[in-house]
Amino acid sequence: MAKVTTKLAANSKASIEPSGNKPSGKSAPKVSAKPKAKTKPPKKPKAPKPKSVKAWSEAEVTEAFTRFRRANPEPKGELEYINPYTLVVAVALSAQATDVGVNKATRNLFPLADTPQKMLALGEDRVRELIKTIGLYRNKAKNVIALSEKLLADYGGEVPRSREALETLPGVGRKTANVVLNMAFGEPTIAVDTHLFRVGNRTGLAPGKNPLEVELGLERMIPAEFKRQAHHWLILHGRYTCIARKPLCERCIVADLCRWPEKTV
Ligand code: SF4
Repeated sequence: MAKVTTKLAANSKASIEPSGNKPSGKSAPKVSAKPKAKTKPPKKPKAPKPKSVKAWSEAEVTEAFTRFRRANPEPKGELEYINPYTLVVAVALSAQATDVGVNKATRNLFPLADTPQKMLALGEDRVRELIKTIGLYRNKAKNVIALSEKLLADYGGEVPRSREALETLPGVGRKTANVVLNMAFGEPTIAVDTHLFRVGNRTGLAPGKNPLEVELGLERMIPAEFKRQAHHWLILHGRYTCIARKPLCERCIVADLCRWPEKTV
């Protein structure tokens, strides 16, 4: 019992001893009025920010698009369509699929249904069957039917010419709306897909954390004379030259302007 008391006393003494002061012989230890401040845990070191590339100047942007235009004066998209309605359907089907794959399916679908009325007459089961080679085809078939119904119910069967109205259609987001406005109606919109996002960030043309930031950057930077075709030039550049894994920098016509630290020329 005595042993226990001694031990407790010793512990209790140690606990009230101010840190750094030795006990002074027999005198009672002083108890600090203020409670000892809690030691803050050390701050975690912040992860270094990835180096962002310096944005292009106006003169550099003009130079780049002058070169794109010289190399390909009439750039064309690769998705096949017959009219604005089939363009909406083709773009909606192209999410997470290649244009080649979509064209393969729509070559069978569009001759049977090139209007919302005909698509509804065909029915979801048949549409699903015809597009089953495309990824996410079940959901896409549902959307094609739903967007056809909405076009008939709200827009007299016509494709509307505004981004807000297009975005009310099932399966149609900002990117699809921008493609439709550009290709079907000749508007100077820029749809940012995976290729444009990569090219905008790598080169320094329009760095941004998300597709909307890149889109707004491209809109701000690209002179009006190039805007309508900019989407196609950049998509083709990203698809065939500035490809994701191993960009073909040695044949890139904007290599001297590109700010990507990993470019190979
Ligand atoms: S130099 Fe290379 S990384 Fe830069 S834009 Fe051209 S292909 Fe892309």
